[in-house]
Amino acid sequence: MSKGNILKSLALSVDFKSSLLFISLGLVIIVMTLWNWHYDFKPRLINEAQSNTRVLAASYARAIESQFQNISGKTDISAIHNSINEMLLINDPSTGENLYFGVTLEVDYDAFPTDYDLVNFDIGTTNCSDCIITDNPIYKRDSGELIAILKIYANPVFYQRLVSDIIDDLALMLVGIVIVLMLAWLTSNRLLYSLRERERSLIIEIAERKSVEDRLHQIATYDQLTNLPNRYLLQADFTRKLEETARSKKMLATLFFDIDHFKKINDMHGHEAGDALLKLAADRVADVTRNYDLLARFGGDEFVMIMSNIENRSDVIYVAEKIIASFSKTFVLPNTEVQVTASIGISVYPEDGDDPSELLKNADLAMYRAKADGRNGYQFFNAEMNLELQYSQWVETNLREALNNGGLELHFQPQVNLENGKVESCEALIRWPQGSNDNVNPTDFIRIAERTGLINEISRWVLQEACRHVKEWNDQGYETVRVDINLSGKDFADRGVLYSFLQTLRHHNLQPHQIGVEITENILLGSTDQIIKALTVLHNAGVHISIDDFGTGFSSLNYLKQLPLSGIKIDQSFVHEAPSNKDDLIIIQAITLVGHGFGLDVIAEGVETEWHESLCKGVGCNTIQGIYVSEPLPADKFAKKFLKKP
Ligand code: GH3
Ligand code: MG
Repeated sequence: MSKGNILKSLALSVDFKSSLLFISLGLVIIVMTLWNWHYDFKPRLINEAQSNTRVLAASYARAIESQFQNISGKTDISAIHNSINEMLLINDPSTGENLYFGVTLEVDYDAFPTDYDLVNFDIGTTNCSDCIITDNPIYKRDSGELIAILKIYANPVFYQRLVSDIIDDLALMLVGIVIVLMLAWLTSNRLLYSLRERERSLIIEIAERKSVEDRLHQIATYDQLTNLPNRYLLQADFTRKLEETARSKKMLATLFFDIDHFKKINDMHGHEAGDALLKLAADRVADVTRNYDLLARFGGDEFVMIMSNIENRSDVIYVAEKIIASFSKTFVLPNTEVQVTASIGISVYPEDGDDPSELLKNADLAMYRAKADGRNGYQFFNAEMNLELQYSQWVETNLREALNNGGLELHFQPQVNLENGKVESCEALIRWPQGSNDNVNPTDFIRIAERTGLINEISRWVLQEACRHVKEWNDQGYETVRVDINLSGKDFADRGVLYSFLQTLRHHNLQPHQIGVEITENILLGSTDQIIKALTVLHNAGVHISIDDFGTGFSSLNYLKQLPLSGIKIDQSFVHEAPSNKDDLIIIQAITLVGHGFGLDVIAEGVETEWHESLCKGVGCNTIQGIYVSEPLPADKFAKKFLKKP
């Protein structure tokens, strides 16, 4: 039994009890009335009548006796009448009312002289109009004794009195019944009222509980910002849609899309603007969603659309292109307007998986490929991506193991100052020797480490290791060179790396200028403010900060102005091609010019030939790095080859 029903029956039983109490009270009144009538009033009345009758009989007897003293033939009966009248008239002492009591009276004339003949006359009626006195023969016995059988029948008044008393009693009883009925009515009304009240409060309670439950359900299953189903509801509906699709033998597509560089909107315009953009983006995509398709916010700036009942891939391409196109219009936010794009990954049932998690995972994978391919586009999942996933899972597991078990190494590539030909700095590059000749490509594993979050641990290890080697070289008496380490954008999300930077240097007894930091332009797509603050702390402490691969990313000159930099590194692709490609040469010249304009060191990477070197010298680069000088070398070899003892 539910709680509501228990409460209801409890209320019912309480009211039922009080109702029973009241009804029993009424019944007691009725019973008492009847009791009183039967055992008290009625006998009292009868007693009174009997005693009056006795008086009457005695008086009558006396009267008749006196009258019949002289009986001879006819009797003067009028005297008897008068006597009878007097005798029958009885004054009710309680009310003062004159009452005639009717009785059937048999006079025993045994006391009279005997042997009277039947006088044979009728006494007739008395003056008492209400009394019926009939058939009153008087016999005279042979002995002369008179025997009178006087029958005086029921006096209506007496009966009226009886009846009225009974009516009074009945009235009392009626009152009792009315009271009972009223009380029963009142109680049942009260009972009904309280039941209704209870019912109403239960309904309200249930409605309130329902609304709280609805709200909780809403919160648990819908995203509060966009009002779209959240990933939990998506999961449930996804399973249902898959079952339907399996029955219909059609296809189902999972579109996993993510806004490109959304963090930048948060950073540049604030979190509220980011929220507003998410809402608008959700509305736009909802507009291109077919009624029977499901659109959900998966988390952050990720959305998922499930398209069921599709016949072929072109249906999906049509929708994917509509989503991309829906982003092409400017988003008008409360205080600004922004332009953003989205990247979409698509997996299709049954080819790419037959359960929600597999289809979502594969669509997500395809989405990453769409991002890697330049964003603002869509990619269908393919088996190759799965191989890539398996590879990246293998890399992640083994890289973690290598990190914990000393399986990684730092190699050092010298940077030569073109003015004096000295190696004054070098870049520390991570290597992961595999035992065989096949080393895992650092670009590959760093990309995977960035995606899995392992990069922070790697960056900490690189910093520790770089410091350890510099300290060793110091201890071995070598001249000081600056070792530049690469930091990832993810290291700025994990503030720990930066905050522990100077601490780690101090721990190894190093000066801030002995360890430099290289960052890529893409790092600046993250939380710019936070990055600038962190870099400023390092820069002010004396840490050399340079932008790596300059020219390949956004290359916003504005960053050069904003960031606390000491140098820029021209991407090796320009240097490679510069001897044969005039444009690349012009780029190198321009970057060098701009870099110097901002007071920065300009370092050319990828210098592989003498020609590259002289070209870099010619445009005014300060430093060169590349295999023309040296391959990256293990610490001891690097020290032996390039470090000098004073
Ligand atoms: P990418 O092109 O690689 O997707 O880059 P991105 O900057 O969009 O990066 P990513 O998708 O990984 O990050 C999404 C960011 O969205 C992370 C988080 O700071 C932000 N974010 C997550 N949830 C919310 C939210 O509810 N409101 C706002 N304003 N920002 C959110
Ligand atoms: Mg994004």
